[in-house]
Amino acid sequence: MADVHMGGAESETFAFQAEINQLLSLIINTFYSNKEIFLRELISNSSDALDKIRFESLTDKSKLDAQPELFIRIIPDKANKTLSIVDSGIGMTKAELVNNLGTIARSGTKEFMEALQAGADVSMIGQFGVGFYSAYLVAEKVIVITKHNDDEQYVWESQAGGSFTVTRDVSGEPLGRGTKITLFLKDDQLEYLEERRIKDLVKKHSEFISYPIYLWTEKTTEKEVSDDEDEETKEEDEGDVEDIDEDKDKDKKKKKKVKEVTHEWQLINKQKPIWLRKPEEITKEEYASFYKSLTNDWEDHLAVKHFSVEGQLEFKAILFVPRRAPFDLFDTRKKLNNIKLYVRRVFIMDNCEELIPEYLSFVKGVVDSDDLPLNISRETLQQNKILKVIRKNLVKKCLEMFFEIAENKEDYAKFYDAFSKNIKLGIHEDSQNRSKLADLLRFHSTKSGDEMTSLKDYVTRMKEGQKDIYYITGESKKAVENSPFLEKLKKRGYEVLFMVDAIDEYAVGQLKEYDGKKLVSATKEGLKLDEESEDEKKKKEEKKKSFENLCKTIKEILGDKVEKVVVSDRIVDSPCCLVTGEYGWTANMERIMKAQALRDNSMSAYMSSKKTMEINPDNGIMEELRKRAEVDKNDKSVKDLVLLLYETALLTSGFSLDDPNTFAGRIHRMLKLGLSIDDDDTGGADDVDMPSLEEEGNEESKMEEVD
Ligand code: ADP
Repeated sequence: MADVHMGGAESETFAFQAEINQLLSLIINTFYSNKEIFLRELISNSSDALDKIRFESLTDKSKLDAQPELFIRIIPDKANKTLSIVDSGIGMTKAELVNNLGTIARSGTKEFMEALQAGADVSMIGQFGVGFYSAYLVAEKVIVITKHNDDEQYVWESQAGGSFTVTRDVSGEPLGRGTKITLFLKDDQLEYLEERRIKDLVKKHSEFISYPIYLWTEKTTEKEVSDDEDEETKEEDEGDVEDIDEDKDKDKKKKKKVKEVTHEWQLINKQKPIWLRKPEEITKEEYASFYKSLTNDWEDHLAVKHFSVEGQLEFKAILFVPRRAPFDLFDTRKKLNNIKLYVRRVFIMDNCEELIPEYLSFVKGVVDSDDLPLNISRETLQQNKILKVIRKNLVKKCLEMFFEIAENKEDYAKFYDAFSKNIKLGIHEDSQNRSKLADLLRFHSTKSGDEMTSLKDYVTRMKEGQKDIYYITGESKKAVENSPFLEKLKKRGYEVLFMVDAIDEYAVGQLKEYDGKKLVSATKEGLKLDEESEDEKKKKEEKKKSFENLCKTIKEILGDKVEKVVVSDRIVDSPCCLVTGEYGWTANMERIMKAQALRDNSMSAYMSSKKTMEINPDNGIMEELRKRAEVDKNDKSVKDLVLLLYETALLTSGFSLDDPNTFAGRIHRMLKLGLSIDDDDTGGADDVDMPSLEEEGNEESKMEEVD
């Protein structure tokens, strides 16, 4: 669609992408009290645009030619009820204008709407990368005029309502380079034209913007002028002069007092970077306000570390830990922009991957180096030795900061809730800091109650003679806390850590030991508990021997389902459990992998853990089985029971059932036996498909004989 507009240039109409359109309706039609944040968002966009052109100019000075000064200007216009924000940033080409402001939705668009509907505050908008649209909190119409070095000047215009237009700006005032956003304020939002309000807002939300922010201010002065002069002034200052004391002066001297209105640009932000100031002179509020302007967060930071490194290499840095994880913490498509890199006060970039390892990507902050060259390119950054040293220092300081947070229980709980996955990822990836990171881990355990315990505290509680640290992995605390694997360990009074986060499997696989003590899985083969008395040992050996035949029989019945069948050392109450090889996947890992990429069944069958069935010789069921097998190992009921035991063990050991229907069939049959329902009596539909108790069997079951 095209129509003629603005001095003859073609105006093109575009439809907002569906999600953006939805977002706009939400912003316009929902009541939010916190509308003021729109200004912060627009200033933040301007600041980003200025960062971009300044960075480009480091390698090519001529990029600044069209407009050498870098600034942000705010112009309230009461007569027209508009508020304009002008910047001399990088501007947008026509294509960027169309894409960035309407046709391509950011990944955060949907997430932000969901967050809003879940009761989140609209001030979160900046974190989701859709801050521009907050303009519609206060404006009924928005016009964006923009000029990029590589394109002509264009005008974007929209009253929301599904579409926007883009037109080449042939008659407007040239910007040189940059962007001017004009908001046509709704009638109940005219407070944003007041000088005081704007100044307060900039102080509150945008104080640490590192470019000058000027406000177009109005000053009224009184001035005595003669009538003649008055006439002249009137001609010059159309309408801005107002008569006072007219009656009094009328017939007297030819002098009068007039109000004169003048305009000027007033600088309304300080720009001395906060990181250059002394930490002891900076208040908590100032850090918080800097943090918010840096991150678009609406909440204060959880922790801050402000430091400088001197000596061979010099740099200053401020690092922050947020209170929450961002919605896209582990979104690999997202570019990392967490630490802003400055070289001698000049912003270089905010997505320098070499500056901080991935697992610390939740840490926000600034680094200002005195040693890096100003015109450093992305390529040279990668090999830069200075950067490597900075990185090492940042990691060290981050860890220090985390340990400081750990001194306060409540704060640490918050931190751990949000970022424990990152710590665990760190254990997996950062071998140099692995043992330090291990001290940051917290787990629930058989003895920790509602609290979580550190490995350090676990060690202090270790029983005499206990050599290893025990843990169990699984889907949830609930799923593991009553696991049969824990029976013997519990009985011995050994504490077992619950590792119920998917990433725990990976982390513990790398960690292997803590404080010289091996981390031992309660669900894997080779769990050796401490020595018993000679007498006990002997008894056990005898018992084991008496169950050898049953083990063989069970293995024959189960075939390839299990690798081997052995007498267990770890269960006390349950009849049996399924353990996995010391170096293979645990049941939990198998669950995780099944849920992940390995959808190919042949592949997962190959990778899946080899299971060992461990049987409990002290359990009544096993004893009965042993007796029956002794008499006749082909006893039908033995076969049935073994299969049922195997399937229940799959469940209690954390595996999933490949064929739940067969299992359910067996259970139903048991229920009927328990209820003394004769199979022939029911004749119900669900009976028809019910599998026989024996998997391959056609013969009728003889479960009755079991009891
Ligand atoms: P974000 O700034 O978080 O990326 P926004 O919705 O605020 O999301 O802005 C979308 C995009 O529009 C920006 O990424 C940027 O490319 C462009 N943009 C917005 N404001 C400006 C501006 N003042 N100058 C140049 N580009 C801008």
